[in-house]
Amino acid sequence: MNIGPSLVRILVVDDNLYESKLQEEILSEQGYQVVKAANGREALDILEHEKVSLIVSDILMPEMDGFTFCREVKQRENLASIPFIFYTASYVDEKDKELAGGLGADLYLIKPVPMDEYISAVKGMLEKKAASPPEEKLEESAYLQKYSERVVKKLEEKILELEQAYQIIQKEKENLLAANVKLMELDRSRTAFFSRISHELKTPLAGIIGYADILTAEISGEQKKYIEEISRYGHSLDKLLSGIMEYMDYAEGKTPLYLEKFNPEEMVRQIYDQVTTLAKSKGLQFQNNISALPAIQADRPSFLKILTNLIQNGIKFTPSGGTVTLSAEKQPGYLAISVADTGIGIRQEDQKRIFAGFEQAEDYLTRTHGGIGLGLTLTQKLIELNGGKISLQSEFGKGSTFTVFFPLAE
Ligand code: ADP
Repeated sequence: MNIGPSLVRILVVDDNLYESKLQEEILSEQGYQVVKAANGREALDILEHEKVSLIVSDILMPEMDGFTFCREVKQRENLASIPFIFYTASYVDEKDKELAGGLGADLYLIKPVPMDEYISAVKGMLEKKAASPPEEKLEESAYLQKYSERVVKKLEEKILELEQAYQIIQKEKENLLAANVKLMELDRSRTAFFSRISHELKTPLAGIIGYADILTAEISGEQKKYIEEISRYGHSLDKLLSGIMEYMDYAEGKTPLYLEKFNPEEMVRQIYDQVTTLAKSKGLQFQNNISALPAIQADRPSFLKILTNLIQNGIKFTPSGGTVTLSAEKQPGYLAISVADTGIGIRQEDQKRIFAGFEQAEDYLTRTHGGIGLGLTLTQKLIELNGGKISLQSEFGKGSTFTVFFPLAE
C-alpha cells in the first residue's frame, strides 16, 4: 500500500537553525511532515514518542554528535529499521564515510547537495527499506577506536581552522591599527590647518573692525548705520575665529590641562554668583541645589568653562518665568553635576547633532538666539580631556537637562 507523503514524517537533526529550516521548507514543499531536533540527544527523545519514516542527520553537533546518535538508533530494535541519512559539511573524509557505513547509515551526503538531488535522495530512501544492519557489527572497542580517531581528526582540523582565523584576525587588527594611525595623522593635520587659517584671518579682520570703528566715530546718518553693521559682522566673525582657535588649541594639546584634586564647591558658588545677575535680568529663577560636594580630579579652568557654558545655555534657551536648576549627585567613580532648565527643549533628532561643531538646533534663517554653535563642541572636548562624560535628556517644548560626570579624586 502506498502512503501519501503527508503521512510520512521525517526527522531532521541539525544544530544549525538555518540548515534545518531550509531542509524543513524543501521537505514540506514535497508534502512531507518534518520534525526537527538540534542534536542527537534531542532526536532520541523525540523518537521515544514519535514514529518517523526517515532520519536526516548532521554529524558535528553539541551534546550528542551524529555518529553517536546513529549508533544509538541502530542499536535499538524498534528504531534500527528507520532509514538513516548523514548530511554533513564537516566530516568529508572517506574514513568518516566508512565509519558511517560501519554504523549502519544508509546514505552519506556531503553539503551542499543541490535541491533536486537532495529530494531524490530522500525519495529513494523512503522507497527502499532501510539497509539491513551491517552483517559485521562494529564491536564496541572497534567502534570507539574508529570514532575517537575521526573525532580527534576533526578536532585537529578545527584547531587548524581556528589558528588560521586567528592569523587573519591578527592581520586585520594590524591593518586597522595602521589605518587608525593614518586617520589620527590626517585629523592632526586638519586641526593644524584650521588653526593656521583662523590665525591668518584674524589679522586682516582686526584691521577691518578697527577702521570700521574709527569711521563710525567720524560719520553720521545712513552711512554710519552701514559701518556699524560692518563692525557688528566683523566682531561676530572674530568671535567665531576665537572659538575655533580655542577649540583647536585644546584639541592639539597647545592649551594643556592640569588635572588636580580639588573640591569644586567654592568654584560652583563663584559660577552661581556670576550668572545669577544674568538669570535675573532675563526674569528667570536660578536655583542652586548644590551643598556638600566630594573632591574631584579635574582641570580647574576647564571645569569653570564647562559649567558656565551649560548654565549660560540654560539661561539663553529658557524664556522668562522659567527656571534653571543646578544639582549634583555622587555616583560610582563620578560626581554628576546637572543643569536642568524648563526652556525650549531639543528635538530628539537634534540631540546628537548639537555636539558637533557649528550645529544649532534652530534653523539658521529663523534663529532667534545668538551664538556660533561651538560651545557644546568645546564643552564635550573639555569633558573628554578631563576623563569625564556628558549626557543629555530633553523634551522639545519642556526643557533640557545636561549632566556632566567628573571623575572623583582617589
Ligand atoms: P551656541 O549656543 O553658541 O549656538 P552651543 O554649542 O552651545 O552653541 O549649542 C548648540 C545648540 O544646541 C544651540 O544653538 C541650541 O540650538 C542647542 N542648545 C544648547 N543648549 C540648549 C538648551 N539648554 N536648551 C535648548 N537648546 C539648547
